[in-house]
Amino acid sequence: MRAGRIVKLLSALLLTGGLTACPEREASVPCPHPDPAFAWNQTVAITEIIPRFSGSPGAEKSASRIAETAGSLPGFRVRVDVFRDQTPEGEKTFRNVIAERPGKSEEFLVIGAHYDTKKLATVPRFAGANDSGSGVGALLAVMKAVSETKQTLPLTLKFVFFDGEEALIDYSENDGFHGSRRCVAELKRNRRLRNCRAMILLDMVGDRDLCLKLPSDTDPVLQSLVLRSARELGYGSHAASGGPLMLDDHTAFAKEGVPAVDLIDFSYGPGNLYWHTEGDTIDKISAESLGISAAIALKTIWKLMKLEP
Ligand SMILES: [Zn+2]
Repeated sequence: MRAGRIVKLLSALLLTGGLTACPEREASVPCPHPDPAFAWNQTVAITEIIPRFSGSPGAEKSASRIAETAGSLPGFRVRVDVFRDQTPEGEKTFRNVIAERPGKSEEFLVIGAHYDTKKLATVPRFAGANDSGSGVGALLAVMKAVSETKQTLPLTLKFVFFDGEEALIDYSENDGFHGSRRCVAELKRNRRLRNCRAMILLDMVGDRDLCLKLPSDTDPVLQSLVLRSARELGYGSHAASGGPLMLDDHTAFAKEGVPAVDLIDFSYGPGNLYWHTEGDTIDKISAESLGISAAIALKTIWKLMKLEP
């Protein structure tokens, strides 16, 4: 992701996705609790696959591992979408892992995280524990918690593990966000994007010193749901509004008018020192932070499904 660039998003567009502040309640289905230890173990396992930049053997291995883990959770249909896309280094192969849990409605939520890591010539053994291991671990923990709910949920849940988030050189139409752009393009092609009620992204969610600063250009109604979820869980100090403008995997959705929010803590170490450096190692993140991020995401999902006020 990259901060600081003004993204041409019209807030009016973001508000056209059908979100309402006072939804009608569905019958009560308690919000499950994600398991921080499971999130941690998954993060460790993916972080041990080094390197895993897009197109590397590690990326392919990561996709297989995520698909296998997701497929072991009851109730999910899992597939790997393999596709080719242009990059500054020529055409490359990418893999999105998509795990879908059918709900009562064809309307759906997308909950995403990227699993590829930045290709760093100076750090060939770049681990990417927080960027991207944490998002993968937290997302799998959300999925596991959902899988423990036996009832059919009101909305279909689509969990997407994106490849190709990181740019080789700098973000452009052929560099970076390959997975999320592909996902949106496929939903459009299948005429399903109109059924996408919201998109929640988890990226850099494991910092021991966790404060998810929601980018100010993301959907305000979704932001308020996230912040309320955090407060109700007792994690109010771990989430705040007013984060920097952010280009990330939510951007392709937001550009199409899907309400989207990015759960990201883009302050990683003193002066963001650990971001895209050899400092992004497993000791900088914690099971507790992964659990907090997963719980906030899950409660937000429950509110979007109108299972909670
Ligand atoms: Zn990154």
